[in-house]
Amino acid sequence: MVRVARVAANSIAEELGIVPGTELSAVNGRALSDFLDWEFLTADDELAIDARLPDGEEIIYEIERPEGEPLGIELEPPTVRRCANRCEFCFIEGLPKGLRKNLYIRDDDYRLSFAYGNFATLSNMKERDEARIVEYRLSPLYVSVHATPWDARRVLLNNPRVPNIVEQLTRLAEHGIQFHCQMVIVPGLNDGAVLEQSFADLWALGDAVMSVAIVPVGLTQFSHLYTGESMSADRAAGLLDVVDRWSRRALVERDDPWVFGSDELYLLAGRDLPPPEHYGDYAQIENGVGAVTSLRERVRVGAARLPRLDGRRIGVVTGTSMTPLMPELLAQLESATGASFVLIPTTNSLFGPTTTTAGLLVGADIRRALDGRDDLDIALIPAETINDAGLFLDDEQFIAVRESLPIPVYPSYDFIDVLSLEGEGAGERAA
Ligand code: SF4
Repeated sequence: MVRVARVAANSIAEELGIVPGTELSAVNGRALSDFLDWEFLTADDELAIDARLPDGEEIIYEIERPEGEPLGIELEPPTVRRCANRCEFCFIEGLPKGLRKNLYIRDDDYRLSFAYGNFATLSNMKERDEARIVEYRLSPLYVSVHATPWDARRVLLNNPRVPNIVEQLTRLAEHGIQFHCQMVIVPGLNDGAVLEQSFADLWALGDAVMSVAIVPVGLTQFSHLYTGESMSADRAAGLLDVVDRWSRRALVERDDPWVFGSDELYLLAGRDLPPPEHYGDYAQIENGVGAVTSLRERVRVGAARLPRLDGRRIGVVTGTSMTPLMPELLAQLESATGASFVLIPTTNSLFGPTTTTAGLLVGADIRRALDGRDDLDIALIPAETINDAGLFLDDEQFIAVRESLPIPVYPSYDFIDVLSLEGEGAGERAA
C-alpha cells in the first residue's frame, strides 16, 4: 500500500475525488508495495486503481487517460531501507550527537540508488528485490562496492553476512542492468592487491560497469569505529597511479577512462586535476569526482557574461580543501567584473578540522566567518551547505544566519549563478 501526500490541482486525480491520505493498494490487480510499483504499474493508460479514502470508503477507480497525461498524485515519501552493515568508516558514525534525527538514518536502498543516485551496497537485498530490479529495469544503479574479494568486503562492511558482490552484479548484468560503482579506500584494507583484484573483477563485468570512483576514507573528529590509518599524500598519489594505469587501459580498449579518482585524492596528492573532457558526462560528480573541474569550466565560460561590478567587495566563504584552488578562480572573476574578491577560508566547527569540505560547513561557521565583515558588500557561501528546507547541518536556519550578519549573504553553486544577477540588484533577490 502507498499513501497519497498531494493531489495536483485540475488533475485526473482531483477530478476523481482522490484526496491526500487516500491509500492505494493495487493497480490493475497487482499489489502496490512502494513508489516503484506505483511508478511502473501506472505507466499504462488504462488503469484500475484499488483505493481506500481517508473516511474508510473503498473504491476502484477505472481510468482511461489521454496518452501521457499525468495522474497528478504525489505519494508520501517511502520508508527508507536501513543499512545492515556497520562500516568502520561510516560517515554517520562520525556525526556528533544532537543533530536532527534524519541525519542519523543509514539508508542502503537500491530503490533510492535508482531514483536519486544514492549509493547502496546491495547487502540487504532479497531475491524478490533482484527480480524487481530486473522487471522494472532499474538501471543504472549506484553501488558501493568497496572491494570485490568477499573476505575484504566482509571486513570493510563489518558484516559477516554480506553477500558476494561479484555474484550479485553478475546476475543483474546478465539481465542488462548497469552500474556506477564506488570504492571508499581505507588504507591497509582495500588498497594494494585488494584494489587490483576489485578493478579486475569489475572490468570483467564489461559494459555493465559504467564507471568506478575511488574515494578516500573521510573521518571526522567524532569517528569512533575506525581503527585503520588515514589517507596521506603518498597514499593518495599511490592510488592515483593505480587509477591512471587502469584508466589508460580503459581508454585504449574501451575509449573511456572508466575509473576515476575523486577530486579529494588529487588535492591530497597535490596533483593537477584532469581536464573537463576526462570526465565525459560527469557521471559521478555528486560523489566528488570532477566537481572542481566542472566548477572551473563553469567559471571560465560564465565569466564572459558577468556584469561590471567595479568597486564592489565580495566575500567568498569556503572550506579549507578548496582554499588553494580559489585564487585562480577569483582572479578570473575579478578580471571579468572589476570587483575585489576576499577569500574567507573557514574551518569546520562541528566536525572538526579534518573535515575540510566546503559543503559541510555549518551555520555557526558561516556566522563566525562573516561576523562583523561590514567591509564587504556581499558574501557568497557554498549553496551545498543548505538543504531544501533552508537548514544547515547544525539545524541553523539560513534565513536566521543571514539576518544576523551585517551584509547580504547568498548561497552560490558556482559564483556565476549569483554574480550574473548582481547587476540587477542582489538585495531584491530571494536567496
Ligand atoms: S553501508 Fe556502511 S557507510 Fe553506508 S550507511 Fe551503511 S554502515 Fe554507513
